Amino acid sequence: MRHLATIQKITNIRKHPNADTLDICNVKGWEVITKTGDFKEGDLCIFFEIDAIVPEYSPVFSFMEKRKFRVKTQKLRGIVSQGLAMPISILDIMRADNHLNKGKIKLTEGEDLTEILGVKKHDPEAEKMRSYSRKNPKKNIFVQYMKQYAWFRKLHFKIVGKHTKNFPWFIKKTDEERIQNMPFVFQQFDGEECYYTEKLDGTSFTGAIFLEKGFGFFRKFFGTDFYVCSRNLTLYSKNDTVYWKIVEQENIEKKLRSVGKNIAIQGEIIGETIQKNKYKLKGIALKLFNVIDIDKNYYYNMKEKIEFCDTFGFSLVPHIDTLVLKNTMKVSDMIELSKGYSEVNPKILREGIVIRSLNNERVSFKAINPDFLIKYDE
Ligand code: ATP
Ligand code: MN
Repeated sequence: MRHLATIQKITNIRKHPNADTLDICNVKGWEVITKTGDFKEGDLCIFFEIDAIVPEYSPVFSFMEKRKFRVKTQKLRGIVSQGLAMPISILDIMRADNHLNKGKIKLTEGEDLTEILGVKKHDPEAEKMRSYSRKNPKKNIFVQYMKQYAWFRKLHFKIVGKHTKNFPWFIKKTDEERIQNMPFVFQQFDGEECYYTEKLDGTSFTGAIFLEKGFGFFRKFFGTDFYVCSRNLTLYSKNDTVYWKIVEQENIEKKLRSVGKNIAIQGEIIGETIQKNKYKLKGIALKLFNVIDIDKNYYYNMKEKIEFCDTFGFSLVPHIDTLVLKNTMKVSDMIELSKGYSEVNPKILREGIVIRSLNNERVSFKAINPDFLIKYDE
């Protein structure tokens, strides 16, 4: 769960060049515009990240009503502002209104208040998937019990139709942390050689072959060693979603089996019916960003991914360039780097970039292009 509301320090306050009553300040690596006088250097605030839906129940947030309570990227008099900083004193008001009675809140930097305040995340894609899984048949104790057996799940699916289950335990979900929340990377990884790819705005796909030792024969026999997953769910058997469409179209099951070991691929599906097809593609396409040797828990590096794709017939997310991290760099440098147009369709703004170490794929973060966020109101 993303920490959408946290206690943070206000730093680096300066005057907005085009507005007398506004300041620009930093909260971690974020740049946020505040009203002059609301904060002074070093004050703690409650910081709501973009995509936060602030609670409607408290009048403290009534000024957000016209924005449907959603915190998003804004341009105020020509300057981008991301997030919402509110004074700590709102906690007293909320407490006085009996809107906060879950005990004491520690007023220390980094403290996560997302749950206590009831802050939700604006996430239309996840909502789409949730309503999809809600279409599942009602829970039945016998059925739930029998579902521990793969043969039953298969049979059950054949009779009842669509269903989904949790993400496989042996693979991590795809995710990237925002550079604004990791301003320390430049110190920590000074001198690290990296590459960066285009962050595509599609939907996350995971495909895997996984034969558990010992159970291999049964798994294989009942056909449950091939996994197809969306961002958060395993899509159990073939259905009409883009996840299964891409599997058919790209012959993914056969390709993965030919690798000859437990292997997972993760990528972004883009194209028709996905995210309003921003790139204006015909049909759909899969662009990989992770290849994982499951047994070794090893993520292929850039070179190995290229080889893998050449050998087995996959394609990678667009590679943009390499870069060396330096302790003199700032978050804003990465935001500048994120700006530009898509390699998939040069007429379209790119969503951003994902920066990764050439030596260790797990050192990875994203920088989202603010122009994209404003253009698409995200
Ligand atoms: P947040 O965590 O910021 O709320 P989110 O979890 O919804 O956002 P995204 O902003 O979509 O996630 O960023 C992470 C996702 O980006 C990954 O899950 C992956 O599907 C997708 N992605 C697209 N392009 C790339 C790329 N080039 N490299 C890595 N991931 C990518
Ligand atoms: Mn995330």
